[in-house]
Amino acid sequence: MNDHGHVRAPTYGLHVALAGTKTSCMMDSTVIKRKALELGADMVNICAVNPGWLFRTSKVPTSEGTVRFARVLVIGVAMDPEAFRVSPSAAIKEETHHGYRRMEEIALALGDYLSRLGYNAYSAGNGEALSIPLAIDAGMGTLGRNGLLLATECGPCLRICKVFTDMPLLPDARPERVLAERCAACTICSDACPANAIESGAAPSHERWRVDRHRCGKYWKETSQECAACISSCPATWEDCRTRPAEHAVTKEGTSVQPSPPCDGATRAAHED
Ligand code: SF4
Ligand code: SF4
Repeated sequence: MNDHGHVRAPTYGLHVALAGTKTSCMMDSTVIKRKALELGADMVNICAVNPGWLFRTSKVPTSEGTVRFARVLVIGVAMDPEAFRVSPSAAIKEETHHGYRRMEEIALALGDYLSRLGYNAYSAGNGEALSIPLAIDAGMGTLGRNGLLLATECGPCLRICKVFTDMPLLPDARPERVLAERCAACTICSDACPANAIESGAAPSHERWRVDRHRCGKYWKETSQECAACISSCPATWEDCRTRPAEHAVTKEGTSVQPSPPCDGATRAAHED
């Protein structure tokens, strides 16, 4: 736990390829995605590793040495939006911790799986690289005004972990527009933020809408609360709410997730009250 009572970014680590086990042909990326879904991921896409998103302290080898991790599997772990109905709350804290635990289990197990196929892998939670830009590069969603990924499956109500690898996986398509179009005409999260930390103009003042992390952090520290108003207030959390899709379907073209029934009207109406 850190000073704010948050869970620290998990650090996972390297999985070394088992000698002599490398598969002789390029394994279909779909098989790896299917495995990630089996392990409990709610979303999984692939992108090339942009070194610009790696932390300066990252230990992931991308350009030098005999091992080069050129691909990353970006894994979305959906959280239960019902836990986010009231912010701040103990339920948010518990669901956040639950998300971190699932991230760790899935990323470690997938890294281990890749090593057994003969490839090197590096599993990471929040560490090693910026997760949201990687998720956007991997085509998992767009960037919201709230500074979070608005994932196609569950809006901003998810956590993201990564598995870097030297396996020659097929990248998914990046969206043409990085910023979520819907946010230009919506200021709900900005209005809901108790720290007044989220930019409110229709057009972003920089390349994206600014979220003042210092104001946000100061609010967390002063209140000793895990605020998540920018998740609980966002309509995308509720319109797309799918805590755990009932069934996953993987196609040749990539991963698609069978949508579970949308939120019923009562749920959404209660949130909007
Ligand atoms: S976590 Fe709370 S304080 Fe921080 S940006 Fe989101 S709504 Fe604002
Ligand atoms: S609340 Fe509205 S503006 Fe904020 S991230 Fe969600 S859709 Fe975008």
